[in-house]
Amino acid sequence: MPTIVMKFGGTSVGSVERLQRVADRVVAAREAGNDVIVVVSAMGQTTDELLSMAAAITATPDPRELDMLLTAGERITMSLLGIALNGRGCKAASYTGSQAGIMTDTQHGAAKITEIRPKRIIEALAAGNVVILAGFQGLSSDYEITTLGRGGSDLTAVAMAGAVGAGICEIYTDVDGVFTADPRIVPDARKVDVIDYDEMLELSTAGAKVLQSRSVEVARRHDVQVHVRSTFTDADGTWVRDRSDDEMEGVLISGVALDTDEAKVTIVEVPDQPGVAARLFKAIAAEGISIDMIVQNVSHRSRTDMSFTTPRADLARLQDALGPLTNEIGADRFSIDDYIAKISLVGAGMKSHPGVAADMFDVMAAEGINIEMISTSPIRVSCVIRRADGERAVRAVHERFGLAQNA
Ligand code: ADP
Ligand code: ASP
Ligand code: MG
Repeated sequence: MPTIVMKFGGTSVGSVERLQRVADRVVAAREAGNDVIVVVSAMGQTTDELLSMAAAITATPDPRELDMLLTAGERITMSLLGIALNGRGCKAASYTGSQAGIMTDTQHGAAKITEIRPKRIIEALAAGNVVILAGFQGLSSDYEITTLGRGGSDLTAVAMAGAVGAGICEIYTDVDGVFTADPRIVPDARKVDVIDYDEMLELSTAGAKVLQSRSVEVARRHDVQVHVRSTFTDADGTWVRDRSDDEMEGVLISGVALDTDEAKVTIVEVPDQPGVAARLFKAIAAEGISIDMIVQNVSHRSRTDMSFTTPRADLARLQDALGPLTNEIGADRFSIDDYIAKISLVGAGMKSHPGVAADMFDVMAAEGINIEMISTSPIRVSCVIRRADGERAVRAVHERFGLAQNA
């Protein structure tokens, strides 16, 4: 029997009633003759609610305890779905990440999957079960429960699909597929039928939440075709897979993404000496905090200002670390700007069209939007702007590049 992996996101399992519909869908897939692995997210906004309960206690909750808390969300969904499926006479068993052999490193909150030992899952399938997996979690090399970063259920699904050789991973979500921009910001955004791994990876990394970025990397590495589709209809969604040269022909831009989850940090008057940047960013990395764009301005009297962007979720921890660190490297002070957004334009066709970045800057100019930082890759241009300008900028860029449905 072919094995398929079906992943249902928070909205898809947002109520008991919706879970019942998921159960119907799973039964149909099973009756069509598949071995089925279902990966579930926490119901609705559960993860955010759990996070805000912890935040009401302290700004810097203990990372181990936070992971114990957050993984409970997915555990509720998996067992309710198990109850629903067994109630329909469809034999099913649910497993936590740890039970399913999802092994990770020790980085609480953003653990990387190091290995999957799917023995128990394969046995459960062979015994005729639908396997239900709690998304977003694993077991570390220290035998602690870890989480895989926000949106991590996508990663659970794709990685398990790779581990059991499923070939296809269906991601059921609350939109019809991957669009040229977030359809909540740009109502006439166009659904993309096929997007290749590199473009999807850039879009996800740039903030398009529809797929978690690490899940796209894993899909590419294990050759898993990902089908992003609506939980509310049977319509075809977007296939994330390699595209043939024919299919690539003529595609200049695949989409615009907006990331509003980062803040800008500036270290003021850093000594302009060899080794300072290394010390600074090593210390930040040691805290498990990731850094995105970095800009260094050569300035006055052998001192320089250094700015970088970082996830807002890590700000409290970063602030704790930066106090002593600015002293240690001999900088004057640091400041945090939590009012930025990053807008990115992504497309494989950019490689051969050098004017794309300039056109994007031109849109910003026409909108009177100041660009504060810029970074590029061969298939992406990103600008940091004021967060308040973010959605307007996305609509303007989307329009200028003719990405709309009827353009
Ligand atoms: P789930 O809970 O199913 O994992 P997410 O909220 O993580 O769903 O991801 C789906 C959301 O991603 C959509 O509701 C949409 O607002 C957002 N999104 C952002 N960019 C895009 C895009 N380019 N195409 C489709 N959806 C996008
Ligand atoms: N529940 C987790 C989150 O909200 C994981 C997921 O939904 O993919 O980030
Ligand atoms: Mg998601």
